[in-house]
Amino acid sequence: MTGTSADPGRVVLLNPGPVNVHDRVRAALGGPDECHREPEAQALLGTVGGKVSRICGAGPDTHATVLFTGSGTAALEAVVSSVVPADGRLLVLDNGHYGERLLRIADVHRIPTTRLEFGWAVPLDLDAVDRALAADPDITHVGVVHHETSTGMLNPLRELGRLTARHGRSLVVDAISSLGAEELDVVRDRIDWCVGTANKCLEGMPGISFVCAPHERFGGLAAVPARTFYLDLAANHRAQVLNGSPQFTPALQVLRALDTALDLALAEGVPARTARYAARAATIRAGLESRGIELLLPPEHRAGSLTNARLSGGMTYDELHDGLKARGYVIYATQGKSAGTFRVANMGRLTDEDLSGFLRAFDEVTADDVARPTQPPVETRDGAVNR
Ligand SMILES: *Cc1c(COP(=O)(O)O)cnc(C)c1O
Repeated sequence: MTGTSADPGRVVLLNPGPVNVHDRVRAALGGPDECHREPEAQALLGTVGGKVSRICGAGPDTHATVLFTGSGTAALEAVVSSVVPADGRLLVLDNGHYGERLLRIADVHRIPTTRLEFGWAVPLDLDAVDRALAADPDITHVGVVHHETSTGMLNPLRELGRLTARHGRSLVVDAISSLGAEELDVVRDRIDWCVGTANKCLEGMPGISFVCAPHERFGGLAAVPARTFYLDLAANHRAQVLNGSPQFTPALQVLRALDTALDLALAEGVPARTARYAARAATIRAGLESRGIELLLPPEHRAGSLTNARLSGGMTYDELHDGLKARGYVIYATQGKSAGTFRVANMGRLTDEDLSGFLRAFDEVTADDVARPTQPPVETRDGAVNR
């Protein structure tokens, strides 16, 4: 295994979240026991919300952020179930697994939808979106995934925001796997509802997700009857932002960790993090391609935090995964049959050695494919692998 003295059980996470976190983020989890109705806990919610808004490109004068205890899908479901009025309709731009998830959430809440299906790993056709909006005045909202994590494709937010604003419709963005590491500005990109999570490119711990939106959007929610109790965005906004006390018990320790992760993100700055991730992705991509591995997407459509690749030869995903896992590296399967074979993410605190070690492990595992059976790597007493 690749553990360090600070974290002897460390596994290198090359899955798209949860990620390897900074030691300070982990340390923040071990703060004092506390009560969520006390002023310090309530101040924490306000502070974290404010920092999330800043990462989204907004400030307290214009925007608020509502935090949910739950993974990214919780905040996503809060938005989809809370913002579309009874006589409204959601247009979903679907080019992968998470586009499909938006549809499934809307279906559960019996929200009328129109699906524009482009196909997995197929870029959005903005002219088709333009025509769909022009053709149906009942469409009130457009839902899109910024980084479609299933394929690794980055969708064009700025152009889409301009388009939906021109048509006077609201834009709901699943920015769960992009926020913090890709260019995104809720004001410039005219995003009405921006959804994110703690444990991907913000490099926090799993358990907190959030919605950032302009104050007047939250104000407009009063006109939409609640479809859920726990995830009612209007009620959570009222309690958390307007009345300064969370509606329910938040995961305070995870929030403390997120607060620290946000400090690190704001100190680094999104552009620097984008560059850091781009350099990591370039190492992974060059490493895989030099080994004859084909990447799913052309460079211009790739997000900076994930590489989707096809496995050639006779090796299965499970064999690759298990061989890498035994050496301390976790990769991720793809979700669709035609969308590559495996994904390697580079979110979180990864070192140069993590990536060179991954590529060495990849060589060992794929060499195993040719010359089986082999000896498992020998563990030394300090936990390092003897290669
Ligand atoms: C990770 C992810 C989600 C949410 O997944 P959770 O398991 O609920 O955190 C939603 N959308 C996208 C694009 C994602 O990458």
